[in-house]
Amino acid sequence: MTDTLHPRTRMIHTGSDRRGFGEMSEALYLTQGFAYDSAEMAEARFDGSDPGYVYARYGNPTVGMFEERLAALEGAEACFAMASGMAACNAAMFGQLQAGDHVVAARALFGSCHYIIDTLLPRFGVSTTLVDGGDLDAWRAAMRAETKICFLESPSNPTLEIIDIAGVAEIAHAGGALLIVDNVFSTPIFQRPLALGADMVMYSTTKHIDGQGRCLGGALLGSAALIRGPILEYMKHTGGALSPFNAWVMLKGLETLDLRCRAMADSAEAVAAHLDGRAGIKRCLHPSLPSHPQHALAMTQMERGGTMVTFELEGGKRAAFRFMNALEIAKISNNLGDAKTIMTHPSTTTHQRLSEEDRLALGITQGLIRCSVGLEAPQDLIADIERGLAAAG
Ligand SMILES: *Cc1c(COP(=O)(O)O)cnc(C)c1O
Repeated sequence: MTDTLHPRTRMIHTGSDRRGFGEMSEALYLTQGFAYDSAEMAEARFDGSDPGYVYARYGNPTVGMFEERLAALEGAEACFAMASGMAACNAAMFGQLQAGDHVVAARALFGSCHYIIDTLLPRFGVSTTLVDGGDLDAWRAAMRAETKICFLESPSNPTLEIIDIAGVAEIAHAGGALLIVDNVFSTPIFQRPLALGADMVMYSTTKHIDGQGRCLGGALLGSAALIRGPILEYMKHTGGALSPFNAWVMLKGLETLDLRCRAMADSAEAVAAHLDGRAGIKRCLHPSLPSHPQHALAMTQMERGGTMVTFELEGGKRAAFRFMNALEIAKISNNLGDAKTIMTHPSTTTHQRLSEEDRLALGITQGLIRCSVGLEAPQDLIADIERGLAAAG
Protein backbone atom coordinates (compact mmCIF):
# COMPACT_ATOMS: atom_id res chain seq x y z
CA MET A 1 0.00 0.00 0.00
CA THR A 2 1.61 3.29 -1.06
CA ASP A 3 2.05 5.92 1.61
CA THR A 4 0.76 8.73 -0.64
CA LEU A 5 -2.81 7.67 0.19
CA HIS A 6 -4.88 9.61 2.71
CA PRO A 7 -4.75 8.12 6.24
CA ARG A 8 -8.48 7.35 6.01
CA THR A 9 -7.81 5.10 3.03
CA ARG A 10 -4.78 3.48 4.60
CA MET A 11 -6.63 2.74 7.84
CA ILE A 12 -9.10 0.60 5.89
CA HIS A 13 -6.59 -1.34 3.76
CA THR A 14 -3.05 -1.22 5.21
CA GLY A 15 -1.99 -4.35 7.06
CA SER A 16 -4.67 -6.66 5.61
CA ASP A 17 -3.02 -10.09 5.40
CA ARG A 18 -5.45 -12.39 3.57
CA ARG A 19 -4.72 -16.12 3.72
CA GLY A 20 -6.64 -18.73 1.80
CA PHE A 21 -10.22 -17.56 1.53
CA GLY A 22 -9.99 -14.01 0.21
CA GLU A 23 -11.83 -13.00 3.36
CA MET A 24 -13.00 -9.34 3.32
CA SER A 25 -12.76 -8.76 7.07
CA GLU A 26 -9.33 -9.55 8.46
CA ALA A 27 -9.12 -12.95 10.13
CA LEU A 28 -9.00 -13.42 13.87
CA TYR A 29 -6.15 -15.90 14.45
CA LEU A 30 -6.99 -17.00 17.95
CA THR A 31 -3.85 -19.10 18.34
CA GLN A 32 -0.96 -18.95 20.77
CA GLY A 33 1.33 -21.30 18.83
CA PHE A 34 2.38 -22.17 15.27
CA ALA A 35 3.17 -25.59 13.72
CA TYR A 36 6.35 -25.83 11.66
CA ASP A 37 6.61 -27.86 8.42
CA SER A 38 9.86 -29.45 9.57
CA ALA A 39 12.38 -29.55 12.39
CA GLU A 40 14.62 -27.41 10.17
CA MET A 41 11.92 -24.77 9.93
CA ALA A 42 11.49 -24.76 13.71
CA GLU A 43 15.24 -24.26 14.10
CA ALA A 44 15.18 -21.40 11.56
CA ARG A 45 12.27 -19.68 13.36
CA PHE A 46 14.19 -19.81 16.62
CA ASP A 47 17.49 -18.54 15.18
CA GLY A 48 15.62 -15.73 13.37
CA SER A 49 16.65 -16.72 9.83
CA ASP A 50 12.96 -17.48 9.09
CA PRO A 51 10.89 -14.43 10.13
CA GLY A 52 7.67 -16.44 10.71
CA TYR A 53 5.74 -16.58 13.96
CA VAL A 54 6.96 -18.54 16.99
CA TYR A 55 4.71 -17.79 19.96
CA ALA A 56 1.90 -15.31 20.59
CA ARG A 57 3.68 -13.67 23.50
CA TYR A 58 5.75 -11.88 20.88
CA GLY A 59 3.85 -12.16 17.65
CA ASN A 60 0.52 -13.29 16.15
CA PRO A 61 -0.84 -12.60 12.64
CA THR A 62 -3.88 -10.63 13.83
CA VAL A 63 -1.77 -8.61 16.27
CA GLY A 64 0.72 -8.09 13.41
CA MET A 65 -1.99 -6.64 11.15
CA PHE A 66 -2.98 -4.22 13.91
CA GLU A 67 0.66 -3.20 14.46
CA GLU A 68 1.24 -2.60 10.75
CA ARG A 69 -1.91 -0.47 10.38
CA LEU A 70 -1.19 1.64 13.48
CA ALA A 71 2.44 2.15 12.38
CA ALA A 72 1.19 3.39 8.99
CA LEU A 73 -1.09 5.92 10.70
CA GLU A 74 1.65 7.17 13.02
CA GLY A 75 4.30 7.26 10.28
CA ALA A 76 6.47 4.98 12.44
CA GLU A 77 8.94 2.35 11.26
CA ALA A 78 7.69 -0.15 13.80
CA CYS A 79 4.98 -0.83 16.38
CA PHE A 80 4.67 -3.32 19.22
CA ALA A 81 1.16 -3.87 20.57
CA MET A 82 0.68 -4.61 24.28
CA ALA A 83 -2.03 -5.81 26.66
CA SER A 84 -2.80 -2.28 27.89
CA GLY A 85 -1.52 1.27 27.85
CA MET A 86 0.22 0.58 31.15
CA ALA A 87 1.96 -2.51 29.73
CA ALA A 88 3.31 -0.13 27.07
CA CYS A 89 4.47 2.41 29.66
CA ASN A 90 6.08 -0.39 31.70
CA ALA A 91 7.96 -1.70 28.62
CA ALA A 92 9.05 1.80 27.59
CA MET A 93 10.68 2.27 31.01
CA PHE A 94 11.81 -1.15 32.25
CA GLY A 95 12.74 -2.29 28.75
CA GLN A 96 15.26 0.51 28.36
CA LEU A 97 16.49 1.66 31.80
CA GLN A 98 18.89 0.27 34.36
CA ALA A 99 20.00 1.21 37.86
CA GLY A 100 21.87 4.51 37.87
CA ASP A 101 19.81 6.00 35.02
CA HIS A 102 17.69 9.13 35.41
CA VAL A 103 14.27 10.06 33.98
CA VAL A 104 12.78 13.53 33.59
CA ALA A 105 8.98 13.66 33.26
CA ALA A 106 6.24 16.25 33.25
CA ARG A 107 4.40 16.36 36.59
CA ALA A 108 0.92 16.23 35.04
CA LEU A 109 0.82 12.54 34.08
CA PHE A 110 -1.81 9.82 33.90
CA GLY A 111 -1.95 8.38 37.45
CA SER A 112 -0.42 4.97 36.72
CA CYS A 113 2.37 6.46 34.55
CA HIS A 114 3.12 8.72 37.53
CA TYR A 115 3.26 5.61 39.77
CA ILE A 116 5.70 3.75 37.48
CA ILE A 117 7.98 6.75 37.07
CA ASP A 118 7.84 8.24 40.55
CA THR A 119 7.37 5.14 42.75
CA LEU A 120 8.48 1.98 40.91
CA LEU A 121 11.57 3.21 39.03
CA PRO A 122 13.27 4.61 42.18
CA ARG A 123 12.84 1.17 43.84
CA PHE A 124 15.19 -0.22 41.18
CA GLY A 125 17.80 2.51 41.40
CA VAL A 126 16.47 4.77 38.64
CA SER A 127 16.11 8.35 39.85
CA THR A 128 13.38 10.63 38.51
CA THR A 129 12.75 14.37 38.38
CA LEU A 130 9.24 15.71 37.80
CA VAL A 131 8.99 19.14 36.21
CA ASP A 132 6.33 21.64 35.22
CA GLY A 133 5.98 20.39 31.62
CA GLY A 134 5.21 23.81 30.18
CA ASP A 135 8.48 25.31 31.45
CA LEU A 136 11.30 24.48 29.00
CA ASP A 137 13.89 25.95 31.39
CA ALA A 138 12.76 23.46 34.04
CA TRP A 139 13.33 20.56 31.57
CA ARG A 140 16.77 21.98 30.74
CA ALA A 141 17.70 22.38 34.42
CA ALA A 142 16.56 18.82 35.25
CA MET A 143 18.79 17.12 32.66
CA ARG A 144 21.80 15.17 33.99
CA ALA A 145 24.58 13.14 32.40
CA GLU A 146 22.62 9.98 33.41
CA THR A 147 19.29 11.15 31.93
CA LYS A 148 18.13 8.46 29.50
CA ILE A 149 14.43 9.21 29.03
CA CYS A 150 12.21 12.30 28.98
CA PHE A 151 8.49 11.50 29.23
CA LEU A 152 5.42 13.67 28.73
CA GLU A 153 1.74 13.70 27.93
CA SER A 154 0.17 16.52 25.87
CA PRO A 155 -2.56 17.59 26.26
CA SER A 156 -2.36 16.47 29.88
CA ASN A 157 -5.01 14.72 31.96
CA PRO A 158 -7.31 16.31 33.10
CA THR A 159 -6.41 20.00 32.68
CA LEU A 160 -5.38 19.77 29.00
CA GLU A 161 -2.07 21.56 29.44
CA ILE A 162 -0.02 21.68 26.27
CA ILE A 163 3.71 20.87 26.28
CA ASP A 164 6.01 22.01 23.48
CA ILE A 165 6.94 18.57 22.08
CA ALA A 166 9.56 19.87 19.62
CA GLY A 167 11.10 22.04 22.37
CA VAL A 168 11.41 19.13 24.83
CA ALA A 169 12.71 16.83 22.05
CA GLU A 170 15.54 19.27 21.37
CA ILE A 171 16.47 19.44 25.07
CA ALA A 172 16.30 15.64 25.44
CA HIS A 173 18.47 15.04 22.37
CA ALA A 174 21.01 17.68 23.39
CA GLY A 175 21.40 15.69 26.63
CA GLY A 176 21.62 12.32 24.86
CA ALA A 177 18.16 11.20 26.08
CA LEU A 178 15.10 9.85 24.26
CA LEU A 179 11.73 11.59 24.32
CA ILE A 180 8.66 9.38 24.81
CA VAL A 181 5.22 10.94 24.35
CA ASP A 182 1.97 9.51 25.74
CA ASN A 183 -0.29 10.59 22.86
CA VAL A 184 -3.60 9.23 24.15
CA PHE A 185 -5.41 12.53 24.69
CA SER A 186 -4.65 14.01 21.29
CA THR A 187 -5.04 10.72 19.32
CA PRO A 188 -2.86 9.75 16.31
CA ILE A 189 -5.34 11.63 14.11
CA PHE A 190 -4.61 15.09 15.54
CA GLN A 191 -0.97 14.94 16.68
CA ARG A 192 2.16 13.15 15.36
CA PRO A 193 4.86 13.32 18.05
CA LEU A 194 7.44 11.46 15.92
CA ALA A 195 7.24 14.20 13.27
CA LEU A 196 7.77 16.75 16.07
CA GLY A 197 11.01 15.03 17.16
CA ALA A 198 9.86 12.43 19.71
CA ASP A 199 11.61 9.05 19.62
CA MET A 200 8.73 6.90 20.82
CA VAL A 201 4.97 7.26 21.05
CA MET A 202 2.85 5.41 23.59
CA TYR A 203 -0.87 4.61 23.34
CA SER A 204 -3.54 3.18 25.49
CA THR A 205 -5.52 1.74 22.55
CA THR A 206 -8.26 1.11 25.13
CA LYS A 207 -9.37 4.67 24.46
CA HIS A 208 -10.16 6.14 20.99
CA ILE A 209 -8.63 3.26 18.99
CA ASP A 210 -11.06 0.73 20.43
CA GLY A 211 -13.50 3.61 20.66
CA GLN A 212 -16.45 1.64 21.99
CA GLY A 213 -15.28 0.77 25.47
CA ARG A 214 -14.70 -2.96 24.88
CA CYS A 215 -11.06 -4.01 25.14
CA LEU A 216 -7.82 -3.08 26.90
CA GLY A 217 -4.80 -2.57 24.68
CA GLY A 218 -1.67 -0.51 24.26
CA ALA A 219 1.18 0.14 21.85
CA LEU A 220 4.65 1.61 21.49
CA LEU A 221 5.80 3.05 18.16
CA GLY A 222 9.14 4.33 16.96
CA SER A 223 12.23 3.32 15.01
CA ALA A 224 12.75 -0.35 14.14
CA ALA A 225 16.00 -0.21 16.13
CA LEU A 226 14.09 0.64 19.34
CA ILE A 227 10.90 -1.36 18.82
CA ARG A 228 12.49 -4.48 17.30
CA GLY A 229 15.45 -4.09 19.70
CA PRO A 230 15.02 -3.46 23.43
CA ILE A 231 11.20 -3.31 23.39
CA LEU A 232 10.75 -6.64 21.56
CA GLU A 233 13.41 -8.23 23.78
CA TYR A 234 11.60 -7.06 26.95
CA MET A 235 8.16 -8.05 25.69
CA LYS A 236 9.31 -11.51 24.59
CA HIS A 237 10.16 -12.41 28.18
CA THR A 238 7.77 -10.43 30.38
CA GLY A 239 4.32 -11.39 29.11
CA GLY A 240 2.44 -8.15 28.40
CA ALA A 241 1.19 -9.39 25.00
CA LEU A 242 -2.01 -8.12 23.40
CA SER A 243 -4.69 -10.79 22.96
CA PRO A 244 -5.44 -11.55 19.27
CA PHE A 245 -9.13 -10.96 19.95
CA ASN A 246 -8.47 -7.47 21.32
CA ALA A 247 -6.11 -6.78 18.40
CA TRP A 248 -8.85 -7.77 15.96
CA VAL A 249 -11.38 -5.44 17.62
CA MET A 250 -8.86 -2.58 17.50
CA LEU A 251 -7.79 -3.34 13.92
CA LYS A 252 -11.43 -2.77 12.96
CA GLY A 253 -11.49 0.30 15.22
CA LEU A 254 -8.71 1.88 13.15
CA GLU A 255 -10.96 1.74 10.07
CA THR A 256 -13.29 4.33 11.59
CA LEU A 257 -10.86 6.19 13.87
CA ASP A 258 -10.44 9.25 11.64
CA LEU A 259 -14.19 9.72 11.17
CA ARG A 260 -14.93 9.14 14.86
CA CYS A 261 -12.22 11.49 16.13
CA ARG A 262 -13.30 14.27 13.78
CA ALA A 263 -16.96 13.93 14.74
CA MET A 264 -16.04 13.88 18.44
CA ALA A 265 -13.75 16.91 18.01
CA ASP A 266 -16.58 18.80 16.25
CA SER A 267 -18.86 18.13 19.22
CA ALA A 268 -16.10 18.87 21.76
CA GLU A 269 -15.62 22.28 20.11
CA ALA A 270 -19.38 22.91 20.25
CA VAL A 271 -19.55 21.91 23.94
CA ALA A 272 -16.47 23.99 24.81
CA ALA A 273 -17.76 27.07 22.96
CA HIS A 274 -21.09 26.67 24.77
CA LEU A 275 -19.49 26.49 28.22
CA ASP A 276 -16.72 29.06 27.74
CA GLY A 277 -17.81 32.18 29.63
CA ARG A 278 -21.22 30.72 30.60
CA ALA A 279 -22.57 31.80 33.99
CA GLY A 280 -21.77 29.18 36.64
CA ILE A 281 -18.65 27.96 34.79
CA LYS A 282 -15.42 29.25 36.35
CA ARG A 283 -13.25 28.11 33.46
CA CYS A 284 -13.61 25.90 30.42
CA LEU A 285 -10.55 24.27 28.88
CA HIS A 286 -10.23 23.02 25.31
CA PRO A 287 -7.16 23.61 23.15
CA SER A 288 -9.37 25.03 20.36
CA LEU A 289 -10.58 27.90 22.56
CA PRO A 290 -8.68 31.19 22.16
CA SER A 291 -9.05 31.49 25.98
CA HIS A 292 -6.94 28.31 26.49
CA PRO A 293 -3.62 29.49 28.04
CA GLN A 294 -1.59 27.66 25.35
CA HIS A 295 -4.01 27.93 22.44
CA ALA A 296 -1.31 29.22 20.04
CA LEU A 297 1.17 26.45 20.90
CA ALA A 298 -1.61 23.83 20.69
CA MET A 299 -2.50 24.91 17.18
CA THR A 300 1.14 24.62 16.02
CA GLN A 301 1.44 20.97 17.07
CA MET A 302 -2.15 19.64 16.94
CA GLU A 303 -4.39 19.62 13.90
CA ARG A 304 -7.52 19.89 16.10
CA GLY A 305 -8.12 20.46 19.81
CA GLY A 306 -9.17 16.87 20.45
CA THR A 307 -12.15 15.16 22.01
CA MET A 308 -11.79 16.08 25.70
CA VAL A 309 -13.27 19.16 27.40
CA THR A 310 -12.55 20.07 31.01
CA PHE A 311 -14.55 22.65 32.95
CA GLU A 312 -14.86 23.93 36.48
CA LEU A 313 -18.22 24.52 38.13
CA GLU A 314 -18.77 27.18 40.72
CA GLY A 315 -19.86 25.51 43.96
CA GLY A 316 -17.14 22.84 44.31
CA LYS A 317 -17.80 19.15 44.89
CA ARG A 318 -21.47 19.61 45.84
CA ALA A 319 -22.25 21.36 42.55
CA ALA A 320 -20.13 18.86 40.59
CA PHE A 321 -21.96 15.85 42.10
CA ARG A 322 -25.40 17.43 41.55
CA PHE A 323 -24.40 18.15 37.95
CA MET A 324 -23.28 14.59 37.28
CA ASN A 325 -26.24 12.96 39.02
CA ALA A 326 -28.72 14.95 36.88
CA LEU A 327 -27.26 13.86 33.51
CA GLU A 328 -29.44 11.56 31.41
CA ILE A 329 -27.20 10.95 28.36
CA ALA A 330 -23.59 11.30 29.49
CA LYS A 331 -22.36 8.46 31.71
CA ILE A 332 -20.41 8.84 34.96
CA SER A 333 -17.27 6.80 34.35
CA ASN A 334 -13.51 7.11 33.92
CA ASN A 335 -12.75 5.78 30.43
CA LEU A 336 -12.31 8.19 27.53
CA GLY A 337 -12.46 8.15 23.75
CA ASP A 338 -15.68 6.08 23.87
CA ALA A 339 -18.66 6.57 21.53
CA LYS A 340 -20.60 7.33 24.73
CA THR A 341 -19.96 10.69 26.38
CA ILE A 342 -18.32 10.22 29.78
CA MET A 343 -18.11 12.64 32.72
CA THR A 344 -15.41 12.19 35.33
CA HIS A 345 -14.86 14.00 38.64
CA PRO A 346 -11.06 13.71 38.80
CA SER A 347 -10.54 14.81 42.40
CA THR A 348 -12.68 11.98 43.85
CA THR A 349 -11.81 9.27 41.27
CA THR A 350 -8.80 9.27 38.92
CA HIS A 351 -6.79 11.62 41.13
CA GLN A 352 -8.20 10.56 44.52
CA ARG A 353 -4.80 9.04 45.47
CA LEU A 354 -3.10 12.48 45.45
CA SER A 355 -3.18 14.88 48.40
CA GLU A 356 -5.44 17.93 48.05
CA GLU A 357 -2.29 20.05 47.89
CA ASP A 358 -0.84 18.02 44.99
CA ARG A 359 -4.20 18.11 43.22
CA LEU A 360 -4.41 21.89 43.50
CA ALA A 361 -0.85 22.19 42.16
CA LEU A 362 -2.15 20.37 39.05
CA GLY A 363 -5.22 22.62 38.84
CA ILE A 364 -7.57 19.80 39.92
CA THR A 365 -10.15 21.57 42.05
CA GLN A 366 -13.28 20.06 43.63
CA GLY A 367 -15.50 21.68 41.00
CA LEU A 368 -13.52 20.29 38.04
CA ILE A 369 -15.25 17.93 35.58
CA ARG A 370 -13.52 16.11 32.73
CA CYS A 371 -15.75 15.33 29.77
CA SER A 372 -14.85 12.81 27.08
CA VAL A 373 -17.13 13.87 24.26
CA GLY A 374 -18.70 10.96 22.41
CA LEU A 375 -20.55 10.45 19.15
CA GLU A 376 -24.02 11.58 20.22
CA ALA A 377 -25.56 14.57 18.39
CA PRO A 378 -24.01 17.71 19.92
CA GLN A 379 -27.38 19.41 20.52
CA ASP A 380 -28.45 16.46 22.70
CA LEU A 381 -25.20 16.63 24.65
CA ILE A 382 -25.51 20.36 25.22
CA ALA A 383 -29.13 19.90 26.38
CA ASP A 384 -27.90 17.19 28.80
CA ILE A 385 -25.17 19.49 30.12
CA GLU A 386 -27.74 22.26 30.59
CA ARG A 387 -29.90 19.79 32.57
CA GLY A 388 -26.89 19.11 34.79
CA LEU A 389 -26.09 22.80 35.22
CA ALA A 390 -29.70 23.58 36.19
CA ALA A 391 -29.45 20.91 38.94
CA ALA A 392 -26.02 22.19 40.07
CA GLY A 393 -27.67 25.52 40.84
C1 LIG B 1 -5.80 5.22 29.96
C2 LIG B 1 -4.50 5.89 29.86
C3 LIG B 1 -3.31 5.18 30.10
C4 LIG B 1 -3.29 3.75 30.55
O1 LIG B 1 -3.87 2.86 29.64
P1 LIG B 1 -4.60 1.49 30.01
O2 LIG B 1 -4.98 0.93 28.67
O3 LIG B 1 -5.77 1.82 30.88
O4 LIG B 1 -3.60 0.63 30.71
C5 LIG B 1 -2.11 5.88 30.00
N1 LIG B 1 -2.08 7.19 29.65
C6 LIG B 1 -3.21 7.88 29.40
C7 LIG B 1 -3.11 9.32 29.04
C8 LIG B 1 -4.45 7.27 29.50
O5 LIG B 1 -5.56 7.97 29.26
